[in-house]
Amino acid sequence: MITFEELGISPSILKAVRELGFENPMPVQEKVIPLMLGQSRDIIALAQTGTGKTAAFGLPLVQEAIPGSKLPTALILCPTRELCLQIAGDLNDYALYSNDIKVLPVYGGSSIDTQVKALRSGVQIIVATPGRMNDLIERGVAKLSAIKRVVLDEADEMLNMGFLDSINTILAEVPENRNTLLFSATMPPQIASISKKYMKDPLEVTIGTRNSGAENVKHIYYTVHAKDKYLVLKRIADNNPGIFGLVFCRTRRETQEIADKLIQDGYNAEALHGDLSQGQRDLVMSKFRSKNIKMLVATDVAARGLDVDDLTHVINYTLPDDHEVYTHRSGRTGRAGKTGISIALVNLRERHLIKQIEKKLKKEFKSAVVPTGREICEKQLFHLIDRMEKVELDQTDIDSYLPVIYRKLEWLDKEEVIKRFVSLSFNRFLEYYRNANEIKSPISDGPGGEADGKRGRRREAEGGYTRMFISLGKMDGFYPPQLIDLVNRCSPGKKVALGDIDLKRNFSFFEIETRFVDEIIPAMNRMEFEGRPIKVEPAEGKGDIDDAPRPRSSANRGDDSRPRSGGYDRTKKDAPRGGYDRAKKDAPRGGGFDRTKKDAPRGGGFDKTKKEAPRYGGYKKDTSESWNRDKKRKK
Ligand code: AMP
Repeated sequence: MITFEELGISPSILKAVRELGFENPMPVQEKVIPLMLGQSRDIIALAQTGTGKTAAFGLPLVQEAIPGSKLPTALILCPTRELCLQIAGDLNDYALYSNDIKVLPVYGGSSIDTQVKALRSGVQIIVATPGRMNDLIERGVAKLSAIKRVVLDEADEMLNMGFLDSINTILAEVPENRNTLLFSATMPPQIASISKKYMKDPLEVTIGTRNSGAENVKHIYYTVHAKDKYLVLKRIADNNPGIFGLVFCRTRRETQEIADKLIQDGYNAEALHGDLSQGQRDLVMSKFRSKNIKMLVATDVAARGLDVDDLTHVINYTLPDDHEVYTHRSGRTGRAGKTGISIALVNLRERHLIKQIEKKLKKEFKSAVVPTGREICEKQLFHLIDRMEKVELDQTDIDSYLPVIYRKLEWLDKEEVIKRFVSLSFNRFLEYYRNANEIKSPISDGPGGEADGKRGRRREAEGGYTRMFISLGKMDGFYPPQLIDLVNRCSPGKKVALGDIDLKRNFSFFEIETRFVDEIIPAMNRMEFEGRPIKVEPAEGKGDIDDAPRPRSSANRGDDSRPRSGGYDRTKKDAPRGGYDRAKKDAPRGGGFDRTKKDAPRGGGFDKTKKEAPRYGGYKKDTSESWNRDKKRKK
């Protein structure tokens, strides 16, 4: 393994670095430091926060700075005041044993006069937010004629925050022959255009995979009913007793609401959003940094610049639309060699976002099951016992109290003391979860799923089943065979398992393998059934809709005398429905049985993956009238 010495770091900086606890360079430092020391090649480094990029550019900048020089030689631009202060703080740490190197942070929201004064007194490195830097240039106090290196840190964030114009102005002010380094967690197209405009033949350095989240982050999602989101959040917190996490919401209002609820429910939480004053935000962030807050509920904007290394969890209470925002959120955990967990709470309609993020991130999410009250209580209990076992005893402090305590507890035996001690610390959870209903997942398979209890009788499906609503019912002549046929048509060449089928008069519910939902449902929605458009969507929230009889009309229902499904007259009372006699008591009702079983009854019950599965009496042939593959094409 290469050392800092071998990278060319000078002894005075080495000393400071050792004191910071850096033993060996991190990968981004290994790559960037030698490229900077003694060279001036432009660099684009794709690196997440937490990878050690500040030292990657900071150590060489400090090393190259000319002690006591009147004009600055390096300019670092970054998106937020917090990051600005942090970078300046880090560089000052690296410069601890380097005489006469001044690093000045300049940022909006604080007195410009103080910053002007400091600039006039002479600094070697400026760390600035683009807006304030622009002001200083306009006032003529920032003299940038000696700048040799410009660092654009978190370039994607600066662009997100609308700093492009300011960056353009600043880059036009610095000497043309300067060297430019751009650090970014993601690579949106505007970065390519900045690099084209302002960088000369930049060398691209990628730390980890492009656009991927931090390597040490596990990505998990819970599929939950929207109404249960908050309860699930609480369960996640309860099931992770050591949680130190950021909970991301989309709006300021939601952020405050969730934080208020958590506080009310006894959690150590606070809100961080733009409606708070700078002073309030500073206070919340410092309480969080010092771990006096365990869960910080924040908006993306307010959390920018909040830099905490050892977050255990990032929770996406609401997922962002933009996958790059997800990358930033999840990159806040799993930093500096630690592992982290990024959790998304999604309802059925939002699950396609998970697929999109997976594609961009090139990482798979694991679907997780909401822990039961019992599981949570067990976890909390063992956490408590673990802590008790490991607690450091400060004998001298407690010794003087012990005789009184022993005397007071004399009448209790050891078991009784343990029981009481556990109850004291643990009753909050026991009481809450004793009365709490278990949370049902909208995905009907899996523990806690709505079909829990019926499992075991049906085929296991990878990733479980999802319950769907379809706008066709028995009155439409829509029975299991028709459903199966429809699914077959929308999934050519695939083996898609169906679970329970619940036919109503005007509409129906059916379960389909979750992993095929995103692919098959849009195709089903493009189909027509006997001239009627089909609407298929997740069944969430549709459990109680009215199934009142609907007037029959030949316009929307077709001619009743026409033979249906397999050419028999379905109006005939004794006609088999969907191929098997549903009246037979022992016949399975379109679901809950093993569809793969060879002897399973046909029609809602046969294995549709089998090649010889009947297509309902030549139904396929006359379907050209009934089914229109693609409504768009029909137009
Ligand atoms: P950054 O990506 O610059 O925000 O750095 C993330 C964290 O890694 C910071 O807390 C740094 O102090 C720490 N760090 C940076 N370089 C090293 C190193 N070589 N060894 C150990 N920790 C480091």
